[in-house]
Amino acid sequence: MNIEYNLHTHTKRCHHAGGDVKDYAAEAAKAGIKVLGMSDHGPFKDFFPGCRMDFEDVEDYRQECLAVREEYKGRMDLKIGFEYEYIRSRDALYEEMLTKYQFEYLVLGQHFFEDRSGNMLYVYQMDDTQEIIEYALSVNEGMKTGYFKFAAHPDLIFMHDLGWDINCDRACDIIVDGAVKGGYMLEYNANGLRRGIGQFKDGERYQYPHRKMFERIREAGIEVIINSDCHQPEQVADEEMVKAYKMCEEMGLKLYELK
Ligand SMILES: [Zn+2]
Ligand SMILES: [Zn+2]
Repeated sequence: MNIEYNLHTHTKRCHHAGGDVKDYAAEAAKAGIKVLGMSDHGPFKDFFPGCRMDFEDVEDYRQECLAVREEYKGRMDLKIGFEYEYIRSRDALYEEMLTKYQFEYLVLGQHFFEDRSGNMLYVYQMDDTQEIIEYALSVNEGMKTGYFKFAAHPDLIFMHDLGWDINCDRACDIIVDGAVKGGYMLEYNANGLRRGIGQFKDGERYQYPHRKMFERIREAGIEVIINSDCHQPEQVADEEMVKAYKMCEEMGLKLYELK
């Protein structure tokens, strides 16, 4: 098994991960990874949802990424990025990261999001499948802006045991349609596998990735990017990543390849 890339990686700066850029790079190089993308949780200037990088640490993070990139030059490419929620009216912030700070990519990771009426919803506090539709719409809205390279864990919402109903079908269709029309990639997230298998109303399964969603993704021919979403250095290319590759290959998903 040759894992060539991982574009979803955190550091201690987000206050809920361990290790620094150099520690993730060491593990990635050991595993033979060719492209390592750092995508710690980016800060908002006037909104503090917790467990995000402090704005004061942005430059330090960037500098460490640049130094580590230099250290591995010729052996491994290091890309500098952030994972962000898409929140309306924050376009200037995403632009600032991509231009002024010269981050090379942003990952869309909706852990909180606005519904159509502008209310802020939290993925970890969902109790109604109707909200899953709002989540799906927000993923598409974020991807449409063009600021993001791919949508992380598009099926994070299935972590809850709400059963599978018509809203779940609709939410999958919304994201799949959006990805087809917008030509964007969806992520198969190994961090979901790390959470283990459990008993749910819709069967024994992982919280996410959810098979039903990825079956639709396969049928639509959408490109899938497998990432570790590592919050500890030793998770960069761990056995859950190997499992993720096996599961995607078994399913016959169209996988992203390094150009
Ligand atoms: Zn995180
Ligand atoms: Zn993440």
